[in-house]
Amino acid sequence: MADTPDTPPKVLFEERGPVAVISLNRPEKANAQDSDLLYQLDDAFARFAHDDNLKVGILRGNGQHFSAGHDLSPEGLADCEVSYPRRSLWWDHAGKIGADNWLSRESEVYLGLCRRWRDLPKPTIAMVDGACIAAGLMLAWSCDIIVASERATFADPVIRMGVPGVELFNHPWEMGSRRAKEFLFLGESIDAATAMEWGMLNHLWPSEELEERTMDLARRIAEHPRFALALTKMAVNKAEEAMGIRTGGDIAFLLHQLAHVQNLVESDSPRRGMNVAETRDALRAADARRTR
Ligand code: ZN
Repeated sequence: MADTPDTPPKVLFEERGPVAVISLNRPEKANAQDSDLLYQLDDAFARFAHDDNLKVGILRGNGQHFSAGHDLSPEGLADCEVSYPRRSLWWDHAGKIGADNWLSRESEVYLGLCRRWRDLPKPTIAMVDGACIAAGLMLAWSCDIIVASERATFADPVIRMGVPGVELFNHPWEMGSRRAKEFLFLGESIDAATAMEWGMLNHLWPSEELEERTMDLARRIAEHPRFALALTKMAVNKAEEAMGIRTGGDIAFLLHQLAHVQNLVESDSPRRGMNVAETRDALRAADARRTR
């Protein structure tokens, strides 16, 4: 599944002075994440981390949306069985069944990669324009700062698939426990103003100003010493870990795996047969019904 001349890269990398701009590049799929995209994103973050001239990273999506989540279309799932060079030392999921398959794949591709990105020692900014759904949240939450436009919406609708939240379970730390429960129980979208009020965003800017103001924020951060930025980031991340984000996330991830296996037993599908179109339609219908 590596790039050929016929398949454009699914992640683009651009240097603007000390700022790396990393763009998800599947606009025709609303930047849905397949394995190709996730491993290419890991390569981009590694390039950013290892280049001494780059100090701050911006993660954005090309097109109308930040990311529609994992690519659950038949084509998107087809590459699940392809072996990419692994970033962890867990065995390959390919050819395994049940939890042996699901836990190994989702540990590596979903939870493991997100945690690698959260831990990279340079500040990162997620710039969210349009929809940020399910695994889209995982990418945004893996960054240090989240800024959004008025067009941004956020949702984790996976309750419809019979699973308790996406694989990176940061919800209680990102929005508080009671809001996290409502957000997950309903599986509906919240708008950017609500996400701002709930404390998940650093800034909410007009769409036409989003790029420029995000770049200005990145450049101002980049004026400071690289090593001090790394230590500052680590200090806050370790405080979050002391507040349980890692242990809580580990437990939720295992419950998520329990749900996949239970779904397999009940419905012969790890997601209760929900495909991406059905989930999207259900989310739209729920959003349309909402009166607030
Ligand atoms: Zn999963």
